[in-house]
Amino acid sequence: MRLSRGLRCECGGASACPDGAANGTCVTQPGGYCFVAVEEVLDENGFVVLDRTSGCLPPDESGFMQCKSSQVPHQHPKVIECCYNEDLCNRRLQPRLPSPPPDATEGPALRPAAPSSPTLLVAVALCVALVAFVVAFFLLLRRRRRGCKRPPSPPAPAHLQEISSGSGSGLPLLVQRTVAKQIQMVESIGKGRYGEVWLARWRGEKVAVKVFFTTEEASWFRETEIYQTVLMRHENILGFIAADIKGTGSWTQMLLITDYHENGSLHDYLQTVVLDTHSLLTMAYSIVSGLAHLHMDIFGTKGKPAIAHRDIKSKNILVKRNGQCAIADFGLAVRYVAERNEVDIAPNTRVGTRRYMAPEVLDEKLDTTNFEAFKMADMYSLGLVLWELCRRCATGDKAQHVDGYALPYHEHVPPDPSFDDMHAVVVGKGIRPPIPARWLAGEPLSTLATLMAECWHANPPVRLTAVRVKKTLAKFRSDAPLKLV
Ligand code: ADP
Ligand code: MG
Repeated sequence: MRLSRGLRCECGGASACPDGAANGTCVTQPGGYCFVAVEEVLDENGFVVLDRTSGCLPPDESGFMQCKSSQVPHQHPKVIECCYNEDLCNRRLQPRLPSPPPDATEGPALRPAAPSSPTLLVAVALCVALVAFVVAFFLLLRRRRRGCKRPPSPPAPAHLQEISSGSGSGLPLLVQRTVAKQIQMVESIGKGRYGEVWLARWRGEKVAVKVFFTTEEASWFRETEIYQTVLMRHENILGFIAADIKGTGSWTQMLLITDYHENGSLHDYLQTVVLDTHSLLTMAYSIVSGLAHLHMDIFGTKGKPAIAHRDIKSKNILVKRNGQCAIADFGLAVRYVAERNEVDIAPNTRVGTRRYMAPEVLDEKLDTTNFEAFKMADMYSLGLVLWELCRRCATGDKAQHVDGYALPYHEHVPPDPSFDDMHAVVVGKGIRPPIPARWLAGEPLSTLATLMAECWHANPPVRLTAVRVKKTLAKFRSDAPLKLV
């Protein structure tokens, strides 16, 4: 039974107890939830420890989705349980971390940044430290023999010290740097506007290495910072492994090492692959799940800030071997700092991709002090990605129909459209991508057609949220709605 008044909950951890909370308890708004979250975090020595937080969650969708969030498989070991039947009901909750699932289908087995068990992380860290020690020992021995003395190596760059100290996600700095030193580049697999991506090997495993152009230090810094945000890991967000920056003076090399996905970007994949409705739904649902996780804030001492991507497009989404997608390229992302009610925008000259810019961005009317505005702009771009996906989904019984791959607005603007080209089409004429009649003839394309139109609405507050799109798509999936405690 739901209480019509606010619910009193036990709260633990400074930031899980709001201002004015008395005796370690807080009160929700009517319809809210009490929660307990348990997660594995790294302590200052790099060891995995269990962290428990409890407190109040808001009513409606946002609280509900946070309660559900740990039931969506995460690479990061954490679990949240909620209750709402009586005051202080969360005192009795004892969430347990799930045992690590076997991961036979998904990419490289290497997952040092989110090991599936504490032992694995300790083992990886110890192995790396041991190898580093042995290598250092032999180098020292050789140098001694030759009688040559080199100046001591410089301390870790200030950027990396800063990033690694405050964050609770990712490998310890020393291990990250060791990983970066041990990779062997194999071949270049992609070029974006801000860097070149390489297939590389780390101890026999395939990894992807993004080498940032020397002028793009701010993008490297931002992307590294975002990947190391607490609770950022999710199966539909590209898995971060390590970051490193080397060099002095005029020469700097900035690296970002992530999981490698051999299918490449969604943009490249859709050129050649035709989807059936099942694979279409798997892709659409996974993309929106990744975006919902990114947009969501999770309260608690080790909570996750809400993040907006600001460059959602098919080239920044990767296709995994299991048919799901992972969102990548966080060089432009912004975070919402709840304590100060501020949007944390990186000091970065980078702008999003013009073709995918929301009308309010093209019109330079987006209020950069309002975090919700960034999320709404992401939803516009997501609508365009859903359109790209649906075109490649075959329909019809005997004769199958499918549209060729096309970029949104391909028939209205040149290949590299200017700001003015896009403004004239999207704002001036209010044009949106065409919905072919075949999509409206059956499900799930018909629902997806409605969803995308509600995502690219000219008026940002009218657009759907990622959580709403996810819920609607969940109806078509057998493995979705999950029950609350
Ligand atoms: P940029 O910031 O320069 O746009 P991205 O991170 O978007 O760089 O990567 C550029 C391209 O490299 C992507 O569109 C994709 O084709 C390829 N790519 C990036 N990361 C990976 C990865 N982890 N696995 C496989 N291909 C990748
Ligand atoms: Mg990119």
